[in-house]
Amino acid sequence: MAETRITESARADPRNGPDVLVAGGGLAALCAAIAARRAGASVWMVDAAPEALKGGNARHGRNIRVAHDGPSAFVPDGYPVAEFEADLRRADPGADPALVAPLARDSRDLPRWLTAQGVAFQPRAGDALPYSRRTVFLLGGGTAMVNALARTAGALGVRVLQGTAVEEVAPDGRAVLCGDGGRTEVTAGAVVAGTGGFQANRAWVREAFGSAADGVLNRGTPHADGRLLRALLDLGAAPAGDAAHAHLVAVDARAPADDGGIVTRADGMAWGLVLDRDGCPVRDAAHETGSARYSGWGRLVAGCPGGIAHVILDDAGLARLGRRVYAPRIMPETETLARALALDPATLADTLRREGPPGGPPWHVVSIRPGLTFTGLGVRTDADGRVLDAARAPLPSLFAAGMIMAPAVLGGRYLSGTALTVCAVFGRRAGEAAARHALA
Ligand SMILES: Cc1cc2nc3c(=O)[nH]c(=O)nc-3n(C[C@H](O)[C@H](O)[C@H](O)COP(=O)(O)OP(=O)(O)OC[C@H]3O[C@@H](n4cnc5c(N)ncnc54)[C@H](O)[C@@H]3O)c2cc1C
Repeated sequence: MAETRITESARADPRNGPDVLVAGGGLAALCAAIAARRAGASVWMVDAAPEALKGGNARHGRNIRVAHDGPSAFVPDGYPVAEFEADLRRADPGADPALVAPLARDSRDLPRWLTAQGVAFQPRAGDALPYSRRTVFLLGGGTAMVNALARTAGALGVRVLQGTAVEEVAPDGRAVLCGDGGRTEVTAGAVVAGTGGFQANRAWVREAFGSAADGVLNRGTPHADGRLLRALLDLGAAPAGDAAHAHLVAVDARAPADDGGIVTRADGMAWGLVLDRDGCPVRDAAHETGSARYSGWGRLVAGCPGGIAHVILDDAGLARLGRRVYAPRIMPETETLARALALDPATLADTLRREGPPGGPPWHVVSIRPGLTFTGLGVRTDADGRVLDAARAPLPSLFAAGMIMAPAVLGGRYLSGTALTVCAVFGRRAGEAAARHALA
């Protein structure tokens, strides 16, 4: 294939691509591809990730927030649409009102719609899962969900290209694809960008976070490099959210640079002593609980020198921590601990005497770093995923769904399970709207 770039002057070929070209391969893209295909469009789903990493960050997910009127096989009690809507507005007072209402309302139909696409939910099973009135859990986790959706997309006739990136798009439906065979330009009836945030793009993360980017590990796919987000912004899409905001949690410092997933999340900060690299105590002044606790500690450790901190537990703290994939390191004596953390033994002994957990030594140590779940800059869309410019006019033929537009509605405090809701609700809506646009 010849080197190709989209230029202002070049004319679009008559449609040599599908009715709907979906860029990405995560939950937003899968839902968009299935919805567009079910609406009668021919669909290609073009994903930068190889087959082994298909499914994006939803592979790591476990629960989805959905409104529901009463108890069901999957979720106890009720979580009315109005309550979900109120939670969204409270969590982010700046959330786009045009997105909040459809998000809460359409979440109610998600268990039914996803089940119809082959996804299975975990029945409520005594105490096997944490009590959750607001979220349904995925049977087999997120990987089972994306595998089921990929099977359905294939069975419906969606053409899937793994290992191929969409490099550029234009408002007339043209897109430049880049894969093993080189670069090629196709013209589609509509393009849906479901390519996530920019959490795998180290240079952009550093530009956005400054020195707080030191030590940040990306919890998810290494393919979320934000290049299509950048391309849409360059085309005049209105930005939503703030690049300096992000969802960060504390993760074990031994986690890989990318894609460590859920098992890397660290805990124990609340019942141990946390020290920064220089031996100074780090405290969670907000005393946050639940999922806010994890994101609170992500921000705290990002603010520590070198982006690293150490959680020090005694035997009682270790017992509360339970079994972990990343087991804490055992330090039989305070001197051993001082050597391992490169701290002055006398100063460390003094800090532990004053502020440490009462039971040690031995000490149990978990070194933590900030782990990035998703970034906070996206593009503005309407409720059908049409990408909007600063005057709120649509960029013709261009749609977006998932974390690439989520900052418009999830820009504040994060409500657990809502990221997957945004991806599925707006993925489905964007796919249907893109099909209508392409077939009109
Ligand atoms: C460890 C972890 C646990 C999580 N747990 C939960 C949970 O329990 N509940 C919840 O609600 N949320 C959870 N989240 C968040 C949620 O999983 C993600 O926000 C969501 O899956 C993002 O979906 P997406 O489709 O928008 O983007 P992504 O999943 O990031 O997918 C983007 C896709 O686009 C592809 N791509 C990127 N650039 C290009 C390009 N230029 N061309 C073509 N393809 C491209 C990538 O290969 C990838 O397949 C979790 C996230 C992580 C990391």
